[in-house]
Amino acid sequence: MTTVERARRLASERPDRPVPCPECAAQVKGANLERHLAKTHDGAVGAHEARWGGPERVGSRWLLVLVLAAATGAAVYTATSGDPDDRIILGAAAVASLAIVVWGAVAWGVPLFPGRLRVDESGAVLRHSFGLARRRLSSIDKVVIGTAMESRPSGNSGNDDSYASVDVRVGGYLQMRGGRRQITVHCPSAGGVRSTWAGWEQGKKRKRLDITLDPREFVALQLALWERGTLSPR
Ligand SMILES: [Zn+2]
Repeated sequence: MTTVERARRLASERPDRPVPCPECAAQVKGANLERHLAKTHDGAVGAHEARWGGPERVGSRWLLVLVLAAATGAAVYTATSGDPDDRIILGAAAVASLAIVVWGAVAWGVPLFPGRLRVDESGAVLRHSFGLARRRLSSIDKVVIGTAMESRPSGNSGNDDSYASVDVRVGGYLQMRGGRRQITVHCPSAGGVRSTWAGWEQGKKRKRLDITLDPREFVALQLALWERGTLSPR
């Protein structure tokens, strides 16, 4: 079933309540969805599967951990080898600094790492680190929804603390949990996710986000979760 077909089915089940448009993510009264699709989107038929792409933030965390471990190891090894080589120590420091810069940029929302998210009958899969790794939920037991945050430089750093930062809201997140694993999906404009659905829990503000989807794909994710019975219309 395509996302548009899912939205049509949801609209027919609740004609008097808002339904997220599968094309533009606007909240449209169920009874008016067909007219909205015809007028605004040329009668969109959509063929998307339950598979979406967007920048992910897991890969940069792994990169940081790996590079810091390797750089520390190289620096310690050469420092204790009896013949310390400054070039290796400085090189290790430079590589570690670069990894920290990349990690920081990704944490501020710079889309450096492409990710893929898929939802199926059994669970969900996040492919990250340029497709080299994935995180699989073999079930989706719980959905948590909350406000997404990012740290940004405050811009008015004093002399004492040149790394002052402020936390800013950057939309919302929907977190899928299965056992002890979780996948946190961020969307810059989460729209009416709270008012459309029941069956989720309110979560705290979060900065640790795994993948960012655009509003249209975020709606497609919600409709896929509805189809598999994880979310229900409010
Ligand atoms: Zn629309």
